Amino acid sequence: MNYNCDVIQDLLPLYEDGICSDASKAIVEEHLRECSACKEIAGRLKNNIVEETLTKEKDIVLSRYQKSIRKKTATIGMATAGILFIPLIICLICNIVIGHALDWFFIVLAAMLLVASLLVVPMVLERKRILWTIICSVVSLLLLLLTCCVYTQGNWFWIASSACIFGLSIPFLPFVVRELPTGETLGRHKAFLIMLWDSLWLYLLLIACGVHIQADRAYWQTAITIASYMLFIVWFWFGIIRYVKKDGWIKAGILVMGTGIWFGLSNNILNIFMPTADGYGLENLNFKAGLNLENPAAFNANILFIIIVLSVCMGAAWIWIGCGRERKNADRKDTDKRNVDKRIANKGDADEKEA
Ligand SMILES: [Zn+2]
Repeated sequence: MNYNCDVIQDLLPLYEDGICSDASKAIVEEHLRECSACKEIAGRLKNNIVEETLTKEKDIVLSRYQKSIRKKTATIGMATAGILFIPLIICLICNIVIGHALDWFFIVLAAMLLVASLLVVPMVLERKRILWTIICSVVSLLLLLLTCCVYTQGNWFWIASSACIFGLSIPFLPFVVRELPTGETLGRHKAFLIMLWDSLWLYLLLIACGVHIQADRAYWQTAITIASYMLFIVWFWFGIIRYVKKDGWIKAGILVMGTGIWFGLSNNILNIFMPTADGYGLENLNFKAGLNLENPAAFNANILFIIIVLSVCMGAAWIWIGCGRERKNADRKDTDKRNVDKRIANKGDADEKEA
């Protein structure tokens, strides 16, 4: 062997890529004929190169395919947008010729915008499609409501729009928030943001309705009290599930207990804030009456009492199970830690003996 294996192995990548000089090539080939170790390395290198090339080619083919699909979709999107212009122009002409003005044309325009935001936006955009589709369709839906309201000289726009925003927020806001660029602190509390937004819109909807019907005091009292009472339990559930770091059984137990008590006390608590309510509260509790429908006050109170007792018992049982599970986990962790400590100590002893 004329050459050192190290030198040959340095040359191998160049040799496999076919970019070394003819002289080097001859040297490498001569060495490979005689040295089995270098031959093996050369074989492995060759396989690696083939694999790498295949992966690279696969990526290129895939990205090219994706690009062509994207291009096709964008073209279809643009074509759809073009087609939407045809009825729009017809309506524009008809509106001017027949009505000598532009009025209901704006309704058609807003309706077409809504169609376009649902069809064209997801096809044409390359990134954040869901986010922009939702935003564009909500904006054009509001525009459509506004034009209809103005055209019919109505005054229902605020009710309709707050109802739409509230209703659409519940299923779609999580998708929007997920795509928004939030900071680290906000990013960890996305669910909180969604809850806050939805609660806000519930109240705005109530206010819009109240203003629309020029509501009296009874409306405000009833609406705000019942909405707040219902919202409270939703926030309670959210807070326990999202922020309490406990065993699942404990959380479920707290939720069952809390919800049962909350529901059982509902008539009594609502009666405080709503003097108009007829209130079959717990003060009518009457075990002798049993569940007799002829005495609705006692029937109601007895049912509420049963709900409270059942939920408290069930919740307590689940919390107890959860505490047991947590203790068992803690014990296991403790034993593991002790075993590790023991092993370390034993090893230390052995080392000392050896020394
Ligand atoms: Zn060698």
